[in-house]
Amino acid sequence: MVASLTIFHICQGMNMRVVTCFKAVVPILGLLGFMSAYAGVTRDQDSEPEYVPTGKGWGEYRGPGNHGAAKGAGKPVSSSNGINYHGGPVMLGTTNVYYIWYGDWSGNSATTILPALAGSIGGSPYYNINTTYYDGSNKKISNSVALAGQAYDTTASLGKALSDANVQTIVTNTISSGALPKDPNGVYFVLTTADVNETSGFCTQYCGWHTHTAFQGVEIKYSFVGNPDRCPSSCAIQTTASPNNNVGADGMASIIAHELEEAVTDPVFNGWYDRRGYENADKCAWKFGTTYTTSNGAKANMNMGGLDYMIQQNWVNAGGGYCAVAY
Ligand SMILES: [Zn+2]
Repeated sequence: MVASLTIFHICQGMNMRVVTCFKAVVPILGLLGFMSAYAGVTRDQDSEPEYVPTGKGWGEYRGPGNHGAAKGAGKPVSSSNGINYHGGPVMLGTTNVYYIWYGDWSGNSATTILPALAGSIGGSPYYNINTTYYDGSNKKISNSVALAGQAYDTTASLGKALSDANVQTIVTNTISSGALPKDPNGVYFVLTTADVNETSGFCTQYCGWHTHTAFQGVEIKYSFVGNPDRCPSSCAIQTTASPNNNVGADGMASIIAHELEEAVTDPVFNGWYDRRGYENADKCAWKFGTTYTTSNGAKANMNMGGLDYMIQQNWVNAGGGYCAVAY
């Protein structure tokens, strides 16, 4: 039973398709229910120890008064919206998205779909949700994103079984080589082809993650986003038809949005997250709201820059807090 509860806990925050978690585990839990499974974790009490984000969609227990990675964090400030501010930075102004295409992406329409996403998500009603988040000086996140650069590692230089450390090296190598600038306002996405695995848990524990590292005097924010074509039943909400006729890329669009909105609101893990260590997008993972049918028969829930997408909801830090596709 303990094992079942643990699995449920992990699955709750994971950026994975719910079917993987809930179909397998919820029936085991049955009427025990969510709250009892979370005894001591989800109850909203100030005396309760907090979990801190890992960037992979689930929190880690750091114990009372010790917030681990949340270096410099003060006592969390409740927003009364189900997510708390922990005193650290958020990403202000225009956020620059950088794509690092890892593996042989030739002939894959992802290379047009995903740049279009990065070029149109800024200014959208969807991304405007992030403007409900602010820093300790009450400066709000901007509804502004730019696709600032793309780089290519077509030979998969570090192989096709990547560790977390490898992903970081891919990013820092790309900066060191001059292929992309060293940008404190950037979020670097390592986008892998379907033949590439990330061995710390891609397809089994997460579909993407974000983190940060100090590199040559700059705090670099970066993210791994795997191709759901490797495991559509785990990482794509639609496994046959998809809005842009590319199940992998359409799945990646939602994962990129998830990691981007977490990176801007919790770039170094002492920004915004809840008592379970769930960041804004974790709280709405695999929730899409109202959908419509596109001309090819797929489902979508938003249009940005002329393309339809099926992108998960994000947590609105206002009005008591709720998942939405627009604000
Ligand atoms: Zn997440």
